[in-house]
Amino acid sequence: MDSNSSGMIPLHQNSSRNRLDHKRETICILGTGDFGRSLGMRMLKSGYPVVFGSRYPKDSTLLPSGAQVFHHADALKKSKIIFLAVHRENYDFVPALSDLLDGKVLVDVSNNLRMNQYPESNAQYLSQLVPKANVVKGFNTVSAWALQSGNLDASSQVFVCGDDNKSKQLVMDVARSIGLTPLDQGSLLAAEELEDYPLQLFPMWRLPLNITAGLTVFFFLYYVVIKVIYPYVKKNADDTYRMMISIPNNVFPIVSLILLGLVYLPGVIAAFIQLYRGTKYKRFPDWLDEWMLCRKQLGLVSFAYGFLHVFYSLVKPLSYAYYWKQIQYTVSEVKKNTTSEMERVWAWRGDLFYALGILGFAVFCLLGITSLPSVSNTMNWREFRFVQSKLGHVTLLLCTAHAAVLGWNKFLTPTRYKWGLPPGYILSMVIPCIVLVLKLILITPCVDRMVTRIRQGWEKKEKGSGNVNI
Ligand code: NAP
Repeated sequence: MDSNSSGMIPLHQNSSRNRLDHKRETICILGTGDFGRSLGMRMLKSGYPVVFGSRYPKDSTLLPSGAQVFHHADALKKSKIIFLAVHRENYDFVPALSDLLDGKVLVDVSNNLRMNQYPESNAQYLSQLVPKANVVKGFNTVSAWALQSGNLDASSQVFVCGDDNKSKQLVMDVARSIGLTPLDQGSLLAAEELEDYPLQLFPMWRLPLNITAGLTVFFFLYYVVIKVIYPYVKKNADDTYRMMISIPNNVFPIVSLILLGLVYLPGVIAAFIQLYRGTKYKRFPDWLDEWMLCRKQLGLVSFAYGFLHVFYSLVKPLSYAYYWKQIQYTVSEVKKNTTSEMERVWAWRGDLFYALGILGFAVFCLLGITSLPSVSNTMNWREFRFVQSKLGHVTLLLCTAHAAVLGWNKFLTPTRYKWGLPPGYILSMVIPCIVLVLKLILITPCVDRMVTRIRQGWEKKEKGSGNVNI
């Protein structure tokens, strides 16, 4: 383990580390703005001598104590590792320093305001301005605030790329010694990707959130038609209050179940594609790749909607409309002077419905918890697969059964189809049922054996080719 991260350094190592600290390279930072100052402060705390290069060294009063400040050229002479903490638009002063930068490591930390703002990455542009310097891209994904506050837990990864390996290693060593985790991203060509990184807004969440928003709006309007507009047209009844608790409590479980189905559908589609092609060595279509990559996000949104459904169901008995109906029922029994017999089938149905819902949600909670990195990191690959695949399909089965028991035989009653529209629970079960049926086919022994062989590298013999196995 790295002595920095363990926090416990044996005495004999401690003294050698102190010696190392004394030998630390002087770091030069060009630019005394927010980022330059924060980086300088962090470097000083980690034992690096820091010199700043500024246009106006005399005016630089906000610099961390312990740092020195000079004009650009004088600062450059004092260090072999230079961080350029200046926006790309202001790089025009750099070519004049070309001779002083000869053979030195020049770190480009810059970001842009939007993607594809320039034809080439800032780091490549800088490299063209000063071809004699070894330009390394890095540190652009760390914020000035995180560097200053020391709150680096969430953003401790630093992506580094550059054409000169030695320079790249030097920069990675510096990153490591100030408490960051450097990740080598290859040559300077990767700089464009690194510069786009801080500009992305939840890229993996975009598709799941769009699907969720689309489904939510669709089913909300669907239920408004069935539960608000239909009674108004037919009986002139004002049931708009349903839009607060009742309709959302229909929409949340439906969307949650569909999303859960969408988590497992690409997996079974992929298995059938592999079966059809007889190989795992061909790329899946792009849409399937993209879909598979956002399964975790789909699952988490599905879980969140399931959670909302639980809350809404718990508060439902508190709603005025709900207990008003209960009172009306009791009053009508009293008026008729009758006591209706308990319907055993309905009692069974109700209890089964709740039991399936509770069990489904409990297993769903397990799935959600095991998808947390801190929990999944403690599992080996087989355990993780078991939880996410086996328990996932069990969750889907329990939740689908929960919806099916709710519907019971209502789908046989024509009056349930308002204006011919099927009840929402039927629509919610379409995708989960497709997944469950396909999964059932996949786990039958002969199909399962075939899929397992393909996933272990076996290939179907192509007509006219001699290849059978890899
Ligand atoms: P800033 O506060 O505006 O500071 C930029 C510095 O550049 C100025 O203080 C100035 O220093 C120097 N400068 C301005 N105009 C110049 C010119 N015409 N010629 C030469 N030098 C000039 O910006 P910043 O937030 O520190 O950002 C600096 C770089 O770090 C940017 O490329 C940014 O994309 C990157 N970055 C920033 C953050 C962040 O959280 N702020 C995070 C990651 C990366 P002197 O007056 O001393 O010359």
